[in-house]
Amino acid sequence: MQFIDLQAQYQHLKTRIDKRIQTVLDHGNYIMGPEVQELEEKLAEYVGVKHAITCANGTDALTLAMMVLDVKAGDAVFCPTFTFFATAEVISFANATPVFVDSDENTFNICPIDLEKRIQKTIAEGKLVPKAIIAVDLFGLTASYPEIEKISNKYGLKLIEDAAQGFGGSINGKKAGSFGDIATTSFFPAKPLGCYGDGGAVFTNNDEYAELLKSYRVHGKGQDKYDNVRIGMNSRLDTIQAAILLEKLAEFPTELINRNKAAANYERELATTYKTPKVPEGYLSSWAQYTLVDENRDEVMASYKAQGIPTVVYYGKCMHQQTAFHGLGYQKGDFPVAEKLAKEVFSLPMHGYLQGLTD
Ligand SMILES: *Cc1c(COP(=O)(O)O)cnc(C)c1O
Repeated sequence: MQFIDLQAQYQHLKTRIDKRIQTVLDHGNYIMGPEVQELEEKLAEYVGVKHAITCANGTDALTLAMMVLDVKAGDAVFCPTFTFFATAEVISFANATPVFVDSDENTFNICPIDLEKRIQKTIAEGKLVPKAIIAVDLFGLTASYPEIEKISNKYGLKLIEDAAQGFGGSINGKKAGSFGDIATTSFFPAKPLGCYGDGGAVFTNNDEYAELLKSYRVHGKGQDKYDNVRIGMNSRLDTIQAAILLEKLAEFPTELINRNKAAANYERELATTYKTPKVPEGYLSSWAQYTLVDENRDEVMASYKAQGIPTVVYYGKCMHQQTAFHGLGYQKGDFPVAEKLAKEVFSLPMHGYLQGLTD
């Protein structure tokens, strides 16, 4: 049994994907070919935003967002401590300071109450300028944007949605990728919508941001890439990856239904034994991970392993526990919920082709 069965998906889509790749090989426009534009239009339509700008990976997508929002030295950017490293990494990479926030124990997402406390503390200390919030749609569940947006508005902060794991999720029909000032996603193979290499995208309704993003991703280009009007980066999505994503995006709604069926089956089987993940009323998860909490995680994982069922820990370390962030001076106990999650969570196999669970 596979934790994420990319091979089953490929077998299902093989004819269509192979044909799309062959088309790219035939026309030979490997960089910014027609499939890139086609994908950007389809992504914008799916997510329900004006602009989708693809790039090289989900980390670059966040870095591009930092550049557009002019995040810089002296700025504080608030993000959950229980997330993948890239969320916090891009803040430091922009020379700003990440200010970590504890999690909600039921959703695993950033806790709005703790978020407001940390903002107020940062203002009171007066050392950093509160600039932005990066909320993460962890494990596929859209973060609680109705509450987070109130806070970002109250304190005049920009809001970024890190939807690397959240693509496909929604709140009352409003899709992940459409929240905040800018949203980002990743097409890393294991994400809900993945390609066959690295890939990412940035979403926004802001025309000015969209123009900046298109410039920053190609060496700060002006009229063309030999007219450079600002310092940018090289962060384009390969045409072949766009071609693969076009076929995967077409199949994605069906896979999303299957993932939700699998989650419902897990819930029915496991809810009496474990603390199972709960999706709040009105929310839809894309189930990037199906994550359980158990005090005896090691024993439970060993027993699954003995049954041939792979399990993985996402994440065993919070950001404030990472060596790279030791300099920020956080202490053990600063984030009680997130620290407990890091000790107790583990994830079960989840994808759209789980036999026996998706029907
Ligand atoms: C995967 C991931 C990223 C980074 O995406 P890459 O494409 O691997 O660079 C960022 N944030 C979160 C929450 C992720 O899970």
